[in-house]
Amino acid sequence: MAMANASIIKDVARFSRRPNLVDYHAVCAAFDWRKARALLDGLPGGRGLNIAHEAVDRHAQGRLAGRVALRWIGKAGERREFSYRDLAAETSRFANALTGLGVGPGDRIFTLLGRVPELYIAVLGTLKTKAVAAPLFSAFGPEPVATRMQLGEARVLVTTEALYRRKVAALRDRLPTLRHVILIDGGEKLPGTVRWHELMDAAGADFTIPATAPEDMALLHITSGTTGRPKGAIHVHEAVVTHHVTGLYALDLHDDDIFWCTADPGWVTGTSYGIIAPLTHGISNLVVEAEFDAQTWYSILAAERVSVWYTAPTAIRMMMKLGADAVRGYELGALRFMASVGEPLNPEGVLWGIEAFGRPFHDNWWQTETGGIMIANYAALPVKPGSMGLPLPGIEAAIVQRRPDGSVAVVEEPMVEGELALKAGWPSMMRGYLHEEERYRKCFVGPWYLTGDLAKRDAEGYFWFVGRADDVIKSSGHLIGPFEVESALMEHPAVAEAGVIGKPDPMAGEIVKAFVALKPGYTASEPLRKELLGHARKRLGAAVAPKEIDFRANLPKTRSGKIMRRLLKARELGLPEGDLSSLESDEK
Ligand code: ATP
Ligand code: MG
Repeated sequence: MAMANASIIKDVARFSRRPNLVDYHAVCAAFDWRKARALLDGLPGGRGLNIAHEAVDRHAQGRLAGRVALRWIGKAGERREFSYRDLAAETSRFANALTGLGVGPGDRIFTLLGRVPELYIAVLGTLKTKAVAAPLFSAFGPEPVATRMQLGEARVLVTTEALYRRKVAALRDRLPTLRHVILIDGGEKLPGTVRWHELMDAAGADFTIPATAPEDMALLHITSGTTGRPKGAIHVHEAVVTHHVTGLYALDLHDDDIFWCTADPGWVTGTSYGIIAPLTHGISNLVVEAEFDAQTWYSILAAERVSVWYTAPTAIRMMMKLGADAVRGYELGALRFMASVGEPLNPEGVLWGIEAFGRPFHDNWWQTETGGIMIANYAALPVKPGSMGLPLPGIEAAIVQRRPDGSVAVVEEPMVEGELALKAGWPSMMRGYLHEEERYRKCFVGPWYLTGDLAKRDAEGYFWFVGRADDVIKSSGHLIGPFEVESALMEHPAVAEAGVIGKPDPMAGEIVKAFVALKPGYTASEPLRKELLGHARKRLGAAVAPKEIDFRANLPKTRSGKIMRRLLKARELGLPEGDLSSLESDEK
């Protein structure tokens, strides 16, 4: 049973490592982003701040030079390791290769690659030259690839021969800015492409990062497209301050950690935390090429002695489907801290972490636009299952309500719903949506950045996710967040996944409708539907419980694993399905 309001209390004295953040309120009171910058080195000679220097070059000499920076496990179980010294040399080679191609500051370098070492080298090498890195999911089809490269004015694309043939070659005439296509593999030479190995072999392993202003553009992240057409969020080199600080406090990274972020760099989490944050801490970063498979994941956690693991609710739900017994028998003694991001983590998921791994998943919240973790459950602090946690030191978060005149009022009272807002000005805040100045400006009111998510804050300052503003259901005068309804359904042993929408209704305005995917061993039936309706009514009351439940084999999701409620709704109502460029699994 979920204990939505109960806390998981921790005893710091029993931790195998003292958490980096113990006295939350004292650290918040003393925190200052300018001082946090001093945790990083800056470019030698006071020449500014560059992400690649903080992540790689500064560790490449001295104590950490020989430490594994990147440990790659390929699909067939093959391994490649790069020490910090190796990674500095490889990224410098790539930087020299780009420079040799006439590519420079501000140019956009796209990658369309699976999680292979070349992706990591290309992104960090790009940052060294002050060009802008824009990673794409390799599973995107030709159209999403083309539209994203058009939006970002791609100058260079790094990809494989197969991906190039299947996804880019035919649409290349739509990409007039694209000058160079670098293929990391392949046989015969394709027209209009150059070879990674030839470029790299000819390039020197020394590269001096040019002076980099903290406000220079570094990363272009195209959002998940959960709510509609994806946007190109611009991030600058200064963002590395947030990456580092969140690695310290929210992920509790320690010097000897083996860290595994399961996200693909095609999604912001896979870049901020799959590349940058762990490397700025000089720890060993595990990269796994294979897609999700529970047994493979458990074997990797055990064999690699992963100590900090950052994953997502969609994976946690898939593991839950198979039950906690599937985790038994793996030696997971090294695993110290587990975190989750990307979607609301149902209380059941947090508790299942304890059942299966002996520790809770720590939910945290952020967006492409925030560049890094903003609200988190911390290692040393009580976890309230179902809550996103407390703001990062240095982040002022509030619940606000919009006034008719366009201004916003901060809600002081606890547990009142409103829009989640952040006081603008943290280092990794997006600096714009590329070519969409107006859309960017609309995100800010007075000192606040408005997130588009609805939430509440309890008396102890913990934030509780309600739903995306677009997904909230208005039924007979009640405002209902889909997350609450989905979490109640998830408590039922038959339910693997739930997605909830508002369906227009002449009497109520909208009624709550749920789509449910079942765990193995359960079959959709009328009695089960009734049972679920009854279970939800008992948990939520008649006003909030779903009136209708449909069974689905799968729920539609984005490539980053988020349930696309807008698509469930469009299909239910027979409306146009809108932008489907990031749709991954599908029920049809
Ligand atoms: P788009 O903006 O293109 O529609 P998106 O919002 O899914 O796509 P991301 O930036 O990847 O793109 O996702 C951020 C959003 O994911 C948040 O605004 C929030 O709605 C949701 N989210 C992320 N983490 C959490 C969390 N821990 N709890 C609840 N929701 C979360
Ligand atoms: Mg969004």
